[in-house]
Amino acid sequence: MVLNMATIQIRTEIPGPRSRTLMARREVAVPRAPYNTTPVFAERAEGATIEDVDGNRYLDFAGGIGCLNVGHRAPLVMSAIQEQMEKHLHLCFAVTPYESYIAVAEKLNALAPGNFAKKTILLNSGAEAVENAVKIARAYTKRPAIICFEDAFHGRTMMAMSLTSKAHPYKAGFEPFASDVYRIPFAYPYRNELGTTAEAFAHHLENAFKRSVAAESVAAVIAEPVLGEGGFVIPPRDYFKAIHTICRKHGILFIADEVQSGFARTGKWFASEHFGIEPDLITMAKSLGGGMPLSAVTGRAEVMDAPGVGGLGGTYCGHPLSCVAALAAIEAIEKGGLLARSTAIGQHFEDRARKWQKKWPLVGDVRGLGGMCAIELVRNAETREPAEKATKQIAEYCYKHGLITITAGTFNNVMRILVPLVVTDEQLNEGLDVIEAALASVTEQKQPALSHA
Ligand code: PMP
Repeated sequence: MVLNMATIQIRTEIPGPRSRTLMARREVAVPRAPYNTTPVFAERAEGATIEDVDGNRYLDFAGGIGCLNVGHRAPLVMSAIQEQMEKHLHLCFAVTPYESYIAVAEKLNALAPGNFAKKTILLNSGAEAVENAVKIARAYTKRPAIICFEDAFHGRTMMAMSLTSKAHPYKAGFEPFASDVYRIPFAYPYRNELGTTAEAFAHHLENAFKRSVAAESVAAVIAEPVLGEGGFVIPPRDYFKAIHTICRKHGILFIADEVQSGFARTGKWFASEHFGIEPDLITMAKSLGGGMPLSAVTGRAEVMDAPGVGGLGGTYCGHPLSCVAALAAIEAIEKGGLLARSTAIGQHFEDRARKWQKKWPLVGDVRGLGGMCAIELVRNAETREPAEKATKQIAEYCYKHGLITITAGTFNNVMRILVPLVVTDEQLNEGLDVIEAALASVTEQKQPALSHA
């Protein structure tokens, strides 16, 4: 099958023979737990496109789960890495420090919201950033408890998993979890039960101090400003101000987990800016590294300095290649005008998705903050029963027609857009056409035939 489109080119049945062979090897050599969204193996990638090992070309609306806001192999990132390779690779910042680590810290201190002195520590993954933010908050406040939210995702390491909300597949079987973790409902306007105002949602925090944990035992509240894995849920605009005010009243730190929502994804450097908040600590990762593994915690200088010398770190944290890639990725966002581009992508998505919503009751909710946008699919527009099966079918239709997408949501019924922000208008429309065709196909199908897991 060959689709006559600008970017997408399907040369073989999907998955093609080489991908099928690799998948057979993968099944023998790799445990089943690390999930593969698509059964196609990548050969190369550029901008917003991926080519698989069988020569099929796809548009990439997943960006390695939001890691490629500047696009695959962004030229500035590539040349920075090449240049660094001629100098040195791993040294370990704890043994022989190097300038690029400092330069990234300085840049993040300047970019993060808040007109106060800040410091930054670099790490490898989002989960590691979350683990460290919790350690820092506990060291500073000398309190044990952390309050997190339903529908949150913070990673797969012990503390991050304990803070994560979704039981299957992230938590079941991995008990016991870290102690002193308390969970309250998130502001999820589409699925609210207690009113949709910021105050109504924020009231859950005050309630927790009565019902679950004394306020004076709480070190921090951790929240994603826009839920990532939880389904791109956007709280009311004054929600986090209300939460932060309550935190301040009780000497509790507010940690914004911007691992997925940061670095231009929402049309600003950090989603926190949309909500007018200045978090005490911010965790970041994914698109910070421009395609290389890098994460960070940036926060108030006095808070960041609470752990003692040697209390934080790790062998590979702030790898030199990742540091130069991050500096280049930040430059690429600045020079490429990617903040404005993200906003424009979000607007365009919304215009098209609203039309889908009018046409198909399956599209229950359309939401987004800049280029962090999604549709939530329901079996019934009144009851809002999640359409998990249809969502899976749509994702499968998409990759079979040349569009890589990923789903999200506690109920597995959200199609989310994490397209590299360097996508062209033509490519964006091409990808949205595939989603539209998928929605039409699933809506018209009487007998859902789904075998892909
Ligand atoms: N926090 C958030 C908000 C995330 O979206 C993720 C990853 N999806 C993580 C933490 C964990 O990041 P990592 O997979 O790099 O450990």
